[in-house]
Amino acid sequence: MALLIDLKMPDWMKDEDLRAELLRHYPGQDIRIGADPGNPEEIEMLTVSTYKRGEALKYPNLKLIQKTGAGVNAILDDRELPESVQVTRLQTSTSGNEMAEYALAYVLQEQRHLRQYHRHQARSEWVAYPPRKAADTTVAVLGLGRIGILVAERFVVNGFRVVGWSRSRKELADVGCFAGDDGLQQVLGTADYVVSVLPSTPETRHIFNHALLRQFKPNALLINVGRGDLVNEPELIRALDEGLLAGAILDVMSIEPLPSDNPLWLHPAVQLTPHVSGYHLGDAILDIGENFRRLQSGEPLLHPVDRSRGY
Ligand code: NDP
Repeated sequence: MALLIDLKMPDWMKDEDLRAELLRHYPGQDIRIGADPGNPEEIEMLTVSTYKRGEALKYPNLKLIQKTGAGVNAILDDRELPESVQVTRLQTSTSGNEMAEYALAYVLQEQRHLRQYHRHQARSEWVAYPPRKAADTTVAVLGLGRIGILVAERFVVNGFRVVGWSRSRKELADVGCFAGDDGLQQVLGTADYVVSVLPSTPETRHIFNHALLRQFKPNALLINVGRGDLVNEPELIRALDEGLLAGAILDVMSIEPLPSDNPLWLHPAVQLTPHVSGYHLGDAILDIGENFRRLQSGEPLLHPVDRSRGY
């Protein structure tokens, strides 16, 4: 039984580096890399960062696909993925905390008018704006899973009013928790910032369409760190042009890398980053080796994905 590491993201992490790290903790295991997979019939576990449709079919005895992150939509969307193949993901507070930090950084940039000061400096202009108070500002976190909770907590400790929305209603200290369509409406009606940490599923895809964006406050900003296809991008641009919301900060886009002719690049109300809000995995990377061990011994796997639920 072999584990194949085929991340396809060498700028982020090289297959051979991950292999060396796993072998340091799980010596003697048959761990291979994408450049040299050997006999495909021996591959029973595949680790990917980027998944290509049909990839699972290359390995007739594949039992498990392990994602090196939390978003598994590209794997689950593959109609050719055999029912027998399990899917697991990583859960890491390291990248969850980085995503919380990212959202807070962009919110503070707006609260303290830093972009305006940057523009004024270029023109040698001395113009002062009153800082917006955290206690008078509501941040809505959509998706209160492992990462969303870290995001919500980060805003709570920084003195913001925080509301959250998820499929099942949560109980979180100092966070007003909502669920369902009515809950979403209530949350959006109060939010100055909407931070999306939702997974991409058939239910959430294009959730940020024109109809939903109409429920935003006109001064509100959308910060999407979940998945790009949560946003209907042409409808977002329309909504921004109509002033339904003040701006969008997008770490994830429906096509990545975003093509250079995509209108999001140059839209004055859009700020983009190249899918970097959650970057480092920390010790969670070792869960890949642990899942390979568990697969071999028949023990329950870490962080299994519910294929029917989509996350
Ligand atoms: P979880 O699975 O732990 O949480 C998902 C949350 O979304 C849950 O609270 C869930 O509700 C909620 N949710 C799912 N479907 C719906 C729905 N239809 N309506 C309302 N709420 C819904 O995921 P994580 O927190 O670990 O990760 C979230 C996403 O973040 C990932 O799927 C991934 O796409 C993205 N991500 C992005 C990164 C980046 O760098 N930009 C890095 C890492 C992850 P409930 O609690 O009721 O189940």
